[in-house]
Amino acid sequence: ATPTALMVGIGRGATLGILVKGQDALEASGTITTVVLDKTGTLTTGEMAARTLIPADGVGEDELLRIAASVEHGSEHIIARAITAAADARQTGREPATDFVTHPGRGITAMVRGDIVAVGSPTFLREHGIAVTNADDQGQTDSGAETAVLVAHGDRLLGRIGLSDAIKPGARKAIAALHRQGMKTVLLTGDTRIAAEHTAERLGIDTVISGVLPADKAGTIRDLQARGERVAMVGDGINDAVALAAADLGLAVASGTDIALKSADIILVRDDLAVIPDAIGLSRRTLRTIR
Ligand code: ADP
Ligand code: MG
Repeated sequence: ATPTALMVGIGRGATLGILVKGQDALEASGTITTVVLDKTGTLTTGEMAARTLIPADGVGEDELLRIAASVEHGSEHIIARAITAAADARQTGREPATDFVTHPGRGITAMVRGDIVAVGSPTFLREHGIAVTNADDQGQTDSGAETAVLVAHGDRLLGRIGLSDAIKPGARKAIAALHRQGMKTVLLTGDTRIAAEHTAERLGIDTVISGVLPADKAGTIRDLQARGERVAMVGDGINDAVALAAADLGLAVASGTDIALKSADIILVRDDLAVIPDAIGLSRRTLRTIR
């Protein structure tokens, strides 16, 4: 590889809104066969809104939201921000809560009025011994599937909060461009199958791998590699850092957390998913110049 051609490639990347951290990254992007994309915050804006409140019998909407917000107060997750914002907007107030424990990719627990409150995915609540029906898994609305978050106080299910997140403008076009480049696309998320499939369908993504805990995301990448794929991973959150590092090429969206940016080979400075096919196209052209 001639350093000059690589420098030109890297320089050209900067004008496209791509920050390439090393020449290895540029070379790796030219050989990718599968692009794995995180859902929340990568394909979606990450600005969630708590839209649907389905309290259990005898529970009020405000009570459901108040208890959830009292516990989510201790979390930085975008779901937590959406729930506390909804509670603030309805002026539900908050209960004093203590002993916050966050469970990455699952939810959060805390003590409220002498009993444990769990807020999180249906799987998480099941793990807590709460009786959860299949209907509780689903956040169905007219506009499609929502992310369903369940709330329990002690052994009692208080209800479900449905959250929705907008798909980033340009996401569908970026996926189509990747397919034209011959890439396979995979949506990888900790969210439920229904919410994940809904997003994948709207974007035209080939494969969905859902319900994956943060710690298992890197394993998913290695499985794909074991099947002969050269994998690029695109992510944003702290949850994605290990997967970004495990991939042949890690791409972080610039709005992502510091740790994700550190683990990435390429940083997409422009908040536009079109930079992913641009980065792959750029490195292919650069490699042709070199060879
Ligand atoms: P993604 O893989 O899409 O980036 P995460 O791994 O951050 O998502 O979270 C996966 C799932 O875990 C969420 O869809 C939600 O059900 C649950 N979850 C995680 N953190 C919280 C929280 N603070 N409050 C409620 N639910 C949570
Ligand atoms: Mg994420």
